[in-house]
Amino acid sequence: MPGRARKFVVGNWKMNGSRAGNAALLDGLKQALPFAADVAVCAPAPFIDDVSRSLAGSGIGWGAQDCSSHDAGAFTGEFSARMLAELGCSVVIVGHSERRAQHGESDGLVAAKARRAIDAGLVPIVCVGETLAERDAGRTEEVVDRQLAAVTDLLGNDIARTVLAYEPVWAIGSGRTATPDQAQAVHARLRRALGAAGASVRILYGGSVKDDNAASLFAESDIDGGLIGGASLNAASFVAICRAAA
Ligand code: PEP
Repeated sequence: MPGRARKFVVGNWKMNGSRAGNAALLDGLKQALPFAADVAVCAPAPFIDDVSRSLAGSGIGWGAQDCSSHDAGAFTGEFSARMLAELGCSVVIVGHSERRAQHGESDGLVAAKARRAIDAGLVPIVCVGETLAERDAGRTEEVVDRQLAAVTDLLGNDIARTVLAYEPVWAIGSGRTATPDQAQAVHARLRRALGAAGASVRILYGGSVKDDNAASLFAESDIDGGLIGGASLNAASFVAICRAAA
């Protein structure tokens, strides 16, 4: 993964799509090539093989939205980072707030998933972020510090092989975006917490990024791109966001 010289825009399709719809969406992205930013899409696992065939050689990367913390074995319904690597994935999201909230994923589990991803040759996109109640209680820094520390403690120097995503939970899918100042403040704190690795680790912002607010967020000095949910499902919107990350 290149360092901070190029911004990085990642689409998180969540549990959306169909084979026909994905093909049309990816055709729309490919027609807009080249991008000045690095771009990847994280598809639902059953579609990754299709996505890999569509995007191979295009320069647009692909990945998954989760992986197991285990390497192999009796873990029905799970899939490993090594399996994703076989499908040509370059990235995998770990610790998305929907997984933390809906599946009870702990900081330690998220860190273990990041470890598996790196061991399989993937770049984990490690999500951190506070809920609205935590922000209102003045606990934003404490929460993101704790979430990041679990990962840095396990990975050590390999934290340099990750991408971080600051995703305030209250901004995800809500239409309520963090202001550039709010996001920048947390990104700067995360970068300081990364120590030496902070010089190269890209920190993405996620939470209701749209084509009309992307440029102002990406202009902040510690925002290295975006993790895009809803707007990544529409080719024109996602292309506009990728262009805003020039
Ligand atoms: C996300 O799913 O990571 C996300 C940021 O969603 P949205 O852009 O829809 O808020």
